[in-house]
Amino acid sequence: MSDTFDIIILGSGPGGYVAALRAAQLGLTVACVEKNEQLGGTCLNVGCIPSKTLLYSSEMFYRMSHEGKTLGIIGSDLTYDWVAMQKRRADVVSGFNQGIAALFKKGRIQRFLGVGDLISPTEVRIDGKQILQSKAIILATGSEPISLPFLPFDEKKVLSSTAALILASPPKKMVVIGAGVIGVELGSVYQRLGTEVQFIEFLDRICPTFDEAITKQLQQILSAQGLTFQLSSKVTSAEITDQGVSLHFESVKGGKGEIAADCVLVAIGRRPYTQGLGLANVGIQVSSKGFIPVDGGFRTSVPSVYAIGDLIDGPMLAHKASEEGVAVAEIIAGKCPVIDYMALPSVIYTSPEVAAVGFTEAEAKQHGLEVAVGTFSFKANSRARCSNEDQGFVKVIADKQSDRLLGVHILGFHASELISGCAIALEQRMTSGELANCPFAHPTLAEAVKEAALAVHKRALHQ
Ligand SMILES: Cc1cc2nc3c(=O)[nH]c(=O)nc-3n(C[C@H](O)[C@H](O)[C@H](O)COP(=O)(O)OP(=O)(O)OC[C@H]3O[C@@H](n4cnc5c(N)ncnc54)[C@H](O)[C@@H]3O)c2cc1C
Repeated sequence: MSDTFDIIILGSGPGGYVAALRAAQLGLTVACVEKNEQLGGTCLNVGCIPSKTLLYSSEMFYRMSHEGKTLGIIGSDLTYDWVAMQKRRADVVSGFNQGIAALFKKGRIQRFLGVGDLISPTEVRIDGKQILQSKAIILATGSEPISLPFLPFDEKKVLSSTAALILASPPKKMVVIGAGVIGVELGSVYQRLGTEVQFIEFLDRICPTFDEAITKQLQQILSAQGLTFQLSSKVTSAEITDQGVSLHFESVKGGKGEIAADCVLVAIGRRPYTQGLGLANVGIQVSSKGFIPVDGGFRTSVPSVYAIGDLIDGPMLAHKASEEGVAVAEIIAGKCPVIDYMALPSVIYTSPEVAAVGFTEAEAKQHGLEVAVGTFSFKANSRARCSNEDQGFVKVIADKQSDRLLGVHILGFHASELISGCAIALEQRMTSGELANCPFAHPTLAEAVKEAALAVHKRALHQ
């Protein structure tokens, strides 16, 4: 096996493996070093894919239990099989593990199993033994969950998102510290299956990176489903008991409280994973938040070493990592790719979903822009009504002067699918008028996007 390559990639998540595929397409020889047996990184093994698989199973159960009668579907004694749900999760993941391995084979990408560290600007060592050489090295080692200093993960009663995906059975009661995207998604899985789920969130709102009008309504909907939120509150101490955990918290308004549960999911964020990467060996320093600083071409302070994905600043999203993986491979191959970060969507896979692209209203105003806003409720959208899924609304934000689209925010059924068309509109620098002029099929959920775009100029037809 050769030990000299055009590119060495550390990490096989959506950043690293996609960089490897694109580099191979461009005719470069590629080595990918991954410490896990399975390829695919956080996203495939313990992130996006297993969480969405469980979200789907639990949503089907919840919908049939709560809406079956309305939909005219009658089944007696509807119940769920957690072992079967877990098996499906594992099967979906392993199918894609094999898929990536097959793509590596097809692209003649050499996979090395082990922990890679930098020993010079052009050399990577695997498990302290084998040395690989290359003129370009891409760091794509991702991120890890953050724990609380007084509440380290034991993955039995104090869970990270990784353990929360593979519990032996749904607990009776779960506390989730942190009402961000990962917290509300995993909390929803268990709540739908009968777990009492209570959130403790430091901020005064859930999912704070999303538009406030959207998350306000999301919180109301999730509360109606049975999730409870203790906002503006900070967990100050914790005890592990025979029964589970007991948490003490303080509200910013001054009150104190205590909650006991079978387990606690700590979902307070993730930090870049640079442990054992040998950054000091080549003189790369990380930022105060642990990110690896890079220039516009993903180059670190060492010109032959690049970094992408969760390791660098920006939203920790799989598709961001993949876009950067493609771009960095093209840059190393001598091309000049451009990523339009403004057109990068984000999604919360609750029911209903939230999806957003571009500025929130608050962000647009912070940038000194005067905005015109149009909204449209799914209550007036025929497809949403046909699907018994009429909660939520679409919010289109445009620049008041130029009418250029600044952001689109959706709370509603299949928002994750609707947002792609909106991302195209932003990427193409369309105005709200141009979006409103596009003919959309009827009856579709997308008509709500068109109506919200029409509403920017008070032209919505169905409200
Ligand atoms: C529960 C959960 C749900 C999520 N859901 C979504 C979602 O729906 N949509 C979305 O866009 N994002 C989601 N994310 C975030 C997404 O998973 C990450 O943004 C994405 O995986 C980052 O990709 P990456 O390639 O930068 O790193 P990662 O996917 O973290 O991959 C890094 C890889 O590097 C390997 N590695 C680390 N150090 C070394 C080393 N020294 N040598 C060799 N290998 C090493 C690791 O084993 C890992 O396989 C979710 C995350 C979690 C935890």
